[in-house]
Amino acid sequence: MKGSIRVGKLFGIPLFIHYTWFVIVALITVSFATVNYPSQYPGWPAASYWLAGLLTALLLFASVLIHELSHSLVSRAQGVPVDSITLFIFGGVANIREEPRKARHELLMAAAGPASSLLLALLLGIAALVAPARSFAAGLARTLALINLWVGLFNLIPGFPLDGGRVLRSLVWWGSSDIVQSTRIASIIGRVIATLMIISGFLVAIFLGDWVSGLWLVFIGWFLDNAAVQSYQQLLLREALAGVTARQLMSPLCPTIEDDPDLQTVVDELVLGTGQRCLFIARENRLAGLLTLHHIKSVPKERWRETHVSEVMTPSAEIKSVDVNQSGLNILRTMDEANVNQIPVVEGDRLVGIITREHVLHYIRNRIELGL
Ligand SMILES: [Zn+2]
Repeated sequence: MKGSIRVGKLFGIPLFIHYTWFVIVALITVSFATVNYPSQYPGWPAASYWLAGLLTALLLFASVLIHELSHSLVSRAQGVPVDSITLFIFGGVANIREEPRKARHELLMAAAGPASSLLLALLLGIAALVAPARSFAAGLARTLALINLWVGLFNLIPGFPLDGGRVLRSLVWWGSSDIVQSTRIASIIGRVIATLMIISGFLVAIFLGDWVSGLWLVFIGWFLDNAAVQSYQQLLLREALAGVTARQLMSPLCPTIEDDPDLQTVVDELVLGTGQRCLFIARENRLAGLLTLHHIKSVPKERWRETHVSEVMTPSAEIKSVDVNQSGLNILRTMDEANVNQIPVVEGDRLVGIITREHVLHYIRNRIELGL
């Protein structure tokens, strides 16, 4: 997630915090310190309300972290590595590298999170009953028990990609052995639930006048709708690129030029003249840089005549490349991380081709058209 900072490692899994996390910690602290605790526990010293508010916010995220760790550790135990855990405004997300291979794996992995939240709610609820009535400890434990109960139940809503939606998908998948079809069903239900949340958010805001809760529901609904659509597309992409390597996706090398023409010349003679979309620039037989349409478009047309290739190309030291046997999905991930639209392919230390996002899309389109 862009805008995240790395804060450490837990069980070998890097932990990130997104900047929106700080916003929500502040909001929760203020609202619990000024509204919830004073109304439920009158008579505490003012400082206690603020301490309770801050502890509630921090322990809420500790609870979310335990929830995400439960998903992650179960996933890892089944041989699917976890790249990172990120805490952000809507809670947490474990970045799990692959889709589970078996329906049973997904069922266990998805259920682990809500199960841990519900267990925490139970333990905190017992702690709240055991602690002296109306004490600071009892108030904190009771509040966190309720929050964990809510986190557990909310995540069990059967809309993909919420945990409940994943449980649903794994059950349909188990029965039908068709992961694409079961993801489609779970994602449609996810979108329906997200839409209902958005509608009820507006109703709460307009008819009950509670704009904060209403808009919050709208935002969560909108976030879930996006996530449902994206997860399904991601799965289609995975399926379409399964077993495909760079060798099948690449096109022959872009032509290599030795000199340093201006961009207007490149456009007239190479791009429009012979249909090239990329160029390697060499100096004394060694690769010096890569120029693509993307670079050309970054310069206003009026300045093409005065701008030379070497001023805008990506220099060789900054060019990322992929191995010819690299899988299609890893290539897309590398392109996303480097934020590029094309990537050279190497075999040993030899350049053998180039892959553009367009190539990948064409490949997928052809496969779909041929019904493969
Ligand atoms: Zn979860």
